Amino acid sequence: MGTVLVAGGTVIDRGRRSQVDVLVRDGKIERVAAGIRASADRTIDATGLYVLPGVIDVHTHPVYVDDLASLPVTAAHGGVTTVVHYAYAKPGTGLVETLRSFREEAERVSILDFGLHGGLFDPKRQSGEIPAAVACGVTSFKMFMTYAKLGWMTDDYQLMRTLDLLRRAGGMGMVHAENGLATDYLEDACNEAKVDPVDAFVRTRPAALEAEAVGRAIAMAEVAQCPLYLPHVSAARALDVVAAARRAGQRVYAETCPQYLTLTNRDLLEKKALLKIGPPLRDDADRKALWSGLAAGALDTVASDHAAKDKRVEDDFFAAPFGSPQAETMLQLVHDGAVRGLLSLERMVRVLSENPARIFGLYPMKGTLTPGSDADLVVFDARARARIEHRTQHSRASYTAYEGRDVVGTPVLTMQRGEILVERGELRAKPGRARFLATQAGRIDVRELS
Ligand SMILES: [Zn+2]
Repeated sequence: MGTVLVAGGTVIDRGRRSQVDVLVRDGKIERVAAGIRASADRTIDATGLYVLPGVIDVHTHPVYVDDLASLPVTAAHGGVTTVVHYAYAKPGTGLVETLRSFREEAERVSILDFGLHGGLFDPKRQSGEIPAAVACGVTSFKMFMTYAKLGWMTDDYQLMRTLDLLRRAGGMGMVHAENGLATDYLEDACNEAKVDPVDAFVRTRPAALEAEAVGRAIAMAEVAQCPLYLPHVSAARALDVVAAARRAGQRVYAETCPQYLTLTNRDLLEKKALLKIGPPLRDDADRKALWSGLAAGALDTVASDHAAKDKRVEDDFFAAPFGSPQAETMLQLVHDGAVRGLLSLERMVRVLSENPARIFGLYPMKGTLTPGSDADLVVFDARARARIEHRTQHSRASYTAYEGRDVVGTPVLTMQRGEILVERGELRAKPGRARFLATQAGRIDVRELS
């Protein structure tokens, strides 16, 4: 594979920023030092640019219009080098057979290294397979506390039981935390009263019901002594519940997503079905609280919840599916927040790369530019002005949630294991190079995350 020298850039890694060169040999970081004079097979001039560990996106859904092949492509264009996909085992299917088929397919078609989360739609029947799934390298398992009408909801009996099984198997629980039965009642009441479905959407999924479910999941995880990861935290008051558990030393990790940091329920009124996501977009005070929580360490990670769909503003809102394309714009949007002083660049790297690697046990192979680590990096031009437009995105979704938004900063090169995947917008990687990553989720003490 040979050698690559990334020269003259500013490396931001492990809470520090330094003017150093990065020498890569055979896919691994060999040296990080100032003024490396080595003849390399290829030298990348990073003068005036940032060199960051590649983004690790631990929340992706490769089962809609972006699949196991195309999701990594759009993500890599945005500086992502590793993805952890949700592999949903639908009722009537086995957990291990689902994980196997995701793994086999991704190894064939993906350009990015990947891990998997198991998704339990029927824990009563599927939880028994958790030890076998852990033996296959999958250690994080998601359940839904909501979507009761869709038949996806796990009740408290099965949630408690599964967290107990997870602790014994050495796994980590994950929940979509919203109170499903309360939401279903509110939705029925709104439908009966013929409330506009867009208005009803926010009203039927209030922050109080997210905070309640977060608190309930944390309580059960405490009793089970099982680590818990909360994807897509969207409400300030949910964050308060998380913070209290963490102060007590409980292993509760919290994620938010770029959409909750950059959009609000006012955008939903305008873009309607395009921004139908769960939990819903909240108000501006929540949005600001998420940035503060991210900066202060109350939230550990930002991940995309990329679930690309074909949707139009005028679609029937009630019938429209949940989800939006997010992976390609995530680094740009978080960086844009950093430029506005909402968090430091050092912290940005931690929440996008180092912390996800630590929480899922991929560190220091991933999530840092340290000798011996995989050479997964992104060269980022922090001064370039960019306009986000659907026509320049690489997702197969029919839109971007950020059409016309101007941001500062754009990735110019994405490298994984020493191989250039994307350079100045050109895709270089071929499918079939991906490696499956066995995770070891939930082992790190929350106080060791910074
Ligand atoms: Zn999701």
